Amino acid sequence: MATDLIIIGGGSAGYVAAIRAAQLGKQVICIEKERVGGTCLNWGCIPTKALLESAELYRKMAKAAGTYGVEAQGVTANWEAMVARSRTVSDRLCGGIEFLFKKHGIERLQGTARILAPGVVELTAPDGTVSELRAPKILIATGARTREIPAFPMDGKRIIGSKQALTLPSVPASMLVIGSGAIGSEFSYLYSCLGCKVTLVEALSNLLPNEDDDVSKAMERAFKKSGMTCLVGAKVESVVTTEGGVEAHITRPGKPDTHVQAEVCLVAVGVVPVVPEATGLQLTERGFVQVNERYETNLAGVYAAGDCIGGVMLAHAASYEAVQAVEGMFLSGAVPKKPALVPGCMYCHPQVASVGLRERELRQSGIAYKVGKFPFQAIGRAVAAGSTDGFVKLLFGAEHGELLGAHIVGEGATELIATPQLGISSELTDADLHAMIFAHPTLGEAIHEATLAADGVPIHA
Ligand code: NAD
Repeated sequence: MATDLIIIGGGSAGYVAAIRAAQLGKQVICIEKERVGGTCLNWGCIPTKALLESAELYRKMAKAAGTYGVEAQGVTANWEAMVARSRTVSDRLCGGIEFLFKKHGIERLQGTARILAPGVVELTAPDGTVSELRAPKILIATGARTREIPAFPMDGKRIIGSKQALTLPSVPASMLVIGSGAIGSEFSYLYSCLGCKVTLVEALSNLLPNEDDDVSKAMERAFKKSGMTCLVGAKVESVVTTEGGVEAHITRPGKPDTHVQAEVCLVAVGVVPVVPEATGLQLTERGFVQVNERYETNLAGVYAAGDCIGGVMLAHAASYEAVQAVEGMFLSGAVPKKPALVPGCMYCHPQVASVGLRERELRQSGIAYKVGKFPFQAIGRAVAAGSTDGFVKLLFGAEHGELLGAHIVGEGATELIATPQLGISSELTDADLHAMIFAHPTLGEAIHEATLAADGVPIHA
């Protein structure tokens, strides 16, 4: 049967595109040079969450069990076993995608692809065999990789990226982490939890600078409480490798220079796009694949989705774009959309999740708004669980009360965020949320209380 679509890349965009196209009755080939699942399943979201789960259990057992009336002596963290578990989790999920490919009749080819011309892909298999494949539609879904700092490139041992941080041979005694986005923050928390002395350095004036200021401040307090050193507004001038690890020279305006020694330095300063060789393919100034509103590149019939096109670089945004692109290709009348309301989640302790507008953005665009903020320490379920750190903050339009943004710090934040997300996308107002009965006792009651707080009538404050 003739191939309808060749997908280059089997990550969150590529594999989802393959399944969606197959559901639409199309014959699909997906080319991946490693294992399907991409960064998310193999070297990102999933294995980090598995490790963070182990670390969190260890933290509770070692540091908090007594407060729950549980006697736990001699609790130790077996890093090797934790890593092995995280690899098993990844393996299981990648196996699941392989199964889905079989179920949907998607042909999976291993190797590296390059686009010779619209409709023509050259595949170089791992054994060097070169073949040519043809299809009327091609989707580039090649993702992104760690951005390096040219002054001190990664060597994979002393100066590492997130991939190496997932499988270090042991927990280092100390670690310098450059960048406090999701990767820097999650690994800082992970290693700090396991006894590593972490110094987290952020160039901007706040940790987690994408979040609202009060979220950043709450996380800085939590990180410092857990024993991390946090340096904000700090520039890493140099990192040199020494016999025992690395030494970094760090400057901060108005403050004395700092020299930090650590066993390992993790670079987590963002990602850069991965783009396959493709004659005549137009890129943006920052090197992303340029696409139009239908995700089509300047080459006829060649589309792109996911991290390689920039925008919101998260797995769930990539999957959304992939579905939009495929439906635009094959469903008559489909009008592909770009991701508009994308939640962001961070899995440290406490967790952070946000969706919609930040206060900063509302102020900048002159939108009048009201804030409802409620701490977990006044929520019965949180007190019972011993998880009282953090708050729910909701932002409503001042005039009509429409929900505009939600920012949550605390246990379960990454699950709770779906409720306000649904509220924003359904254009719910404070009055709608007031009228809802939230189950008791649940952490979700903080969403209700935050709504009441926006109108000055919280019950438990
Ligand atoms: P990021 O862009 O989210 O954060 C990088 C941080 O590094 C920023 O805060 C930036 O100000 C800082 N920075 C940049 N240059 C610096 C320098 N020279 N010195 C000090 N600080 C510097 O990137 P990331 O954390 O590397 O993550 C990469 C991608 O993966 C992102 O798109 C991220 O959203 C995604 N990701 C998401 C999750 C999640 O959703 N839980 C987890 C991991 C990664």
